Amino acid sequence: MTASLTDTRSAELYRRALEVIPGGVNSPVRAMRAIGRDPIFIARGEGAELIDVDGNRFLDYVCSWGPLIHGHSHPHVLAAIGEAAARGTSFGAPTAGEVELAAEVARRMEGVDMLRMTSSGTEATMTAVRLARAATGRELVLKFAGAYHGHVDGLLAQAGSGLATQALPASPGVPPSAAAGTVVVPWNDPDTLAAATERQELAAIIAEPLPANMGVVPPAAGFLELLRERADASGSLLILDEVISGFRVAHGGAQELTGVVGDLTIMGKVIGGGLPAAAVGGRADLMRMLAPSGDVYQAGTLSGNPLAIAAGLATLELLDEAAYLRLASLTAELAQGLRQAAGSYPVQVVSVPGLLTVFFSERPVSSFADALGCDLDAYGAWCRELLSRGVYPPPSQFEAWFPSLAHTREQIDRTLEAAAAAFSCLPARGDPA
Ligand SMILES: *Cc1c(COP(=O)(O)O)cnc(C)c1O
Repeated sequence: MTASLTDTRSAELYRRALEVIPGGVNSPVRAMRAIGRDPIFIARGEGAELIDVDGNRFLDYVCSWGPLIHGHSHPHVLAAIGEAAARGTSFGAPTAGEVELAAEVARRMEGVDMLRMTSSGTEATMTAVRLARAATGRELVLKFAGAYHGHVDGLLAQAGSGLATQALPASPGVPPSAAAGTVVVPWNDPDTLAAATERQELAAIIAEPLPANMGVVPPAAGFLELLRERADASGSLLILDEVISGFRVAHGGAQELTGVVGDLTIMGKVIGGGLPAAAVGGRADLMRMLAPSGDVYQAGTLSGNPLAIAAGLATLELLDEAAYLRLASLTAELAQGLRQAAGSYPVQVVSVPGLLTVFFSERPVSSFADALGCDLDAYGAWCRELLSRGVYPPPSQFEAWFPSLAHTREQIDRTLEAAAAAFSCLPARGDPA
């Protein structure tokens, strides 16, 4: 006898979770509401696979939303964490690993001379914005619709990721005074950007150089160069949020791939190798403004945590040029295969090395408005079919697929078979509902 869907351990845990955790989850998109189903509770991960509490196996294309670029439970990363843990979990005093990690990041990222570690990307964003305001003596920050920079009050306006998934324009609880410090303009719209930077005195332009939180929507030709040019011309700083793209799209992140370098750079996800770590880095003159070398305050009880540093260092050690070539070719193969799997079904598969999105759209997607116009119901139905075939896609179209270096060719082939079968289960476009 097969267990009914309400009979599973996941369903039982979800019922209990709803009593003690808001919405049953500790971060909204995990609830899978955007694809019309209940969350799956995970017991463990092995390489490219997730194993749920009912023993089901899934090929994982979320990989903890990006940190696990080597897949789950990589032996080198686990060993590093274990060795660090045996020496003690936290000291609240500096350690050798922090120096090593900072030096490695500074070697890789052209825009980063120095960095300060935090425990989350959200904190790193807060610090970058504070630094930019202190350095320029200005308050306004320009961000792009559909970009996500963590759950910082002032930057939730028209944010991608979970806010887009929940269809929230911003969030109750953000005071108008915090929102007033933010100017939002559409992505890939040079005229609106130029006008906004001429009209107002900005402390900073903040952007994901390869946006991945409205799905993957790369910059149009010349757009990133325009950000750099407008920031310089208007005396504001360019903050590049590489929390997703850093250490993923290339050895030196999006800044290496695109050639456009920020004054400040936000890093997260891969830098912590699956443990909580993030960082803000940048030009030495700006970074030296941070306490205690300067007077811009920033701190954190667990910042530079030795376990997270060990996981991050072990993760970066495995990321040589060969690894980036392999991840890029794996991503391209997956993207091309998904296009073929869709057949005549109208989708736009957009990919950059290490990231991709399947937009359910007949037209190319170049802005948040385009992403919001996709057929989200069809995306949800397709994802439910994928899950029933053992493939775990991002449970919201406003998120990227994160293939890892643990994914094998055979697993990609299985994914593409499942994807084709899932497409063939969808009602043809244009059919009466
Ligand atoms: C995930 C993410 C953040 C926030 O990082 P947290 O560690 O979740 O606070 C910021 N910016 C981008 C681009 C992200 O993808």
